[in-house]
Amino acid sequence: MSPYALAIHGGAGVISRSRMTPEREAESRAELRHALAIGEEILAASGTALDAATAVTVYLEDCPLFNAGRGSVFDAEGNHGFDASIMDGSNRKCGAIAAARAIKNPILAARKVMEETPHILLAGDLADRFAQEQGLELAPPSYFFTTHRREQLKRAREAKQVVLDHGFDDDGATGTVGAVVLDKHGNLATTNSTGGMTNKLPGRAGDSALIGSGTWAHNDTCAVCTTGIGEAFIRTNAASRVAAMVEFSASTLADAAHWVIYADLPPVGGSGGLIALNRWGDITMPFNSGGMYRGYVKEGEEAKVAIW
Ligand code: ASP
Repeated sequence: MSPYALAIHGGAGVISRSRMTPEREAESRAELRHALAIGEEILAASGTALDAATAVTVYLEDCPLFNAGRGSVFDAEGNHGFDASIMDGSNRKCGAIAAARAIKNPILAARKVMEETPHILLAGDLADRFAQEQGLELAPPSYFFTTHRREQLKRAREAKQVVLDHGFDDDGATGTVGAVVLDKHGNLATTNSTGGMTNKLPGRAGDSALIGSGTWAHNDTCAVCTTGIGEAFIRTNAASRVAAMVEFSASTLADAAHWVIYADLPPVGGSGGLIALNRWGDITMPFNSGGMYRGYVKEGEEAKVAIW
């Protein structure tokens, strides 16, 4: 049995220290800690990395603070579009949904795609239909409405920009969510879930839906989950590139992740970060943006959370 480890993120972006209220900071840190505790309970009871990653992500999707599930950002037409993906490092099975509109917990639909179909990615309204057929809950637009996100859409429209969930210098909005997990059985898993970017074109899918770009897990190398401007992570195939560097260039996990975030992403306009973990429990969480909501816990250690 190996010692378990779990790392999570709640999005990367500007995250200005000066504009963050103490209440919002405390609330964000508390939610990250709570998510870690949910995952840790499963791992401590010898649960699987997949189950822990899924449970943590469902919790963060249900929390209106984060840009995933309930607290998702708005697209250019004032609607929502959800991307999510999951990968099992023990066998490289994976599943994803892109640009779905009504799934209450997008990560559960991604998992159903992985476990119940011969496919990997389902998109749009038909992903919603699939989720419903699988017995998952759909929710009306009102469930996903938050005043804060609506305000962000107004500002993004005025600026004529497509922006990260906390791309403006605002008061501490939190972002996309994801988890990388190592269980006691030595298996890795990754989850990734987002509402995407504010003011995006309807139908747009980002890295969070794409295995290889935003999500990767393979026991032989590492589990990786990215957050930031999705198009840049797709152009650099960031998540699997970290794994490829570990596999073929003998880089450490930290060096590989650092190179992707600081050397490979910036030339294609990539702002953001990633969390990564290997089966020895090494964790790295680099970001080239102002901050990244993040946290981790390892067996026998205190959980830690950080923003800047
Ligand atoms: N990567 C996500 C996307 O482009 C956004 C984020 O991580 O905040 O859809």
